[in-house]
Amino acid sequence: MRKEIERLVELDREVKLLAHMGAVLGWDQETYMPPMAIGERAEQIAYLEGLAHEKAVSPEIGSLLGALGSSAENPLGDPSLEPLERAYLRVLRRAYDRETKLPGELVTELARAASLGQAAWVEARAASDFARFRPSLERMVSLQRSKAACLGPGRKPYDVLLDLYEPGNDEASVGAVFSALRAELASLLDRIRGRPQVDDSVVKRPCPEGRQAAISEWLMGELAYDRGRGRLDTVAHPFTSTLGSDDVRITTRFLPEAFASGMFSTMHEAGHALYELGIAPGPGYSRTSLSEASSMAIHESQSRLWENLVGRSSAFWSSRYTRLAELAGPALEGVGLEAFLRAINKVEPSLIRVEADEVSYGLHVILRFELESALLSGSLQVAELPGAWNAKMRELLDLAPPDDARGCLQDVHWSAGLFGYFPSYALGNLYASQLWDAMLAELPGIEARIEGADTAELLAWLRSKVHASGAACLPGELVERATGSPLDPGHFTRYLRAKYAALYGL
Ligand code: ZN
Repeated sequence: MRKEIERLVELDREVKLLAHMGAVLGWDQETYMPPMAIGERAEQIAYLEGLAHEKAVSPEIGSLLGALGSSAENPLGDPSLEPLERAYLRVLRRAYDRETKLPGELVTELARAASLGQAAWVEARAASDFARFRPSLERMVSLQRSKAACLGPGRKPYDVLLDLYEPGNDEASVGAVFSALRAELASLLDRIRGRPQVDDSVVKRPCPEGRQAAISEWLMGELAYDRGRGRLDTVAHPFTSTLGSDDVRITTRFLPEAFASGMFSTMHEAGHALYELGIAPGPGYSRTSLSEASSMAIHESQSRLWENLVGRSSAFWSSRYTRLAELAGPALEGVGLEAFLRAINKVEPSLIRVEADEVSYGLHVILRFELESALLSGSLQVAELPGAWNAKMRELLDLAPPDDARGCLQDVHWSAGLFGYFPSYALGNLYASQLWDAMLAELPGIEARIEGADTAELLAWLRSKVHASGAACLPGELVERATGSPLDPGHFTRYLRAKYAALYGL
């Protein structure tokens, strides 16, 4: 390793240390912190973020990057460097430019707008009153345009923002994928609507929290999530948090009348954690910017893969269902494997994205993608959002939200300034299916082994093809390298068609 790169690693690790310390505080805030502590906690977190920002914009980083030939036009730097060193420079250049291009005043304004915006959103959602949120959202959209103008002058604002979460993608590339996906999902949904509905009442029987916790603990073991490097706690809105390279924690929630929800939430978050714990881009790069996910969609592909492709499959449950029924107790008494599988795979369009089934989920995301890009371009005014939301809801899912709480106020993202993030959710499903097909082709008979209670081989495949490279691989490169072809939504739509043809007799 060149001495300039060694020095960059040192500086980068200081930023990472601060980020992980901030994550400890954030995790504690969401799980165990007593409510009155919020005031000082917010200061503690803001202080650490300020320090991390100071470190991240250090001119020494800029000159080291420059000395290694990395610039905005040529982020990879000197061609004589090793491929991993070049990937590291690309990642650092991107972060450095992002941190240095935004004026401090704008950063502060964005942080303030996000915290006030979220508070306004909570109130507006509780009252189902969009008018209360409208001024905050107008402010946020305008700040996001300013942010995009600083980060990518002359580029379409939405392209700049989307690239923050999905490096290498833009509105046109995502839009092309989504238009093919939209037609497929709509036609599948139509056919399912014409068939008798399946009964999911068996997974809506009461199940006490203690039993649900035991189910989640058991599932973490089945997925080989290492409790020596992580843990499970309960929160209102489940998430995964990386507190250190050997400390990736997950959270879930146990709803008394919907035990399947907590169970799948645990599998979903465990999928995120397995990814984070498997990142190992190369010697010398632990706890650096290279030890991060390739993109948010690749992250989501891992959670969705374990939650849906594994967790809702008959292969996974055939040898495990007896144990689940024991742990669930009266909730699953007298319920056979077939009835359970039908219940956990029911398709029924609903108003709320986070409760959506595998078919309608993508349509919820496409709706948000189209609306947020229109808000950023100015072709849709914030005041018109509720009407536009409801019209799209009818167009895509044939549903009419009775109020804004179940319409355009349901997600926290826009209030927090997360514009361009939504596409990652749907892209994650597409990546997951494509990776799954490649894995099946490379590991003949793997499904029988998953059925025989062994998921180790699947995890090892994911480790080598997806997890290990971390941020060294852009999402487009990663999927091509792992599957032999660029992103193709056909894998996902074929998976859905086959699965629901069997379930609904299409
Ligand atoms: Zn997720």
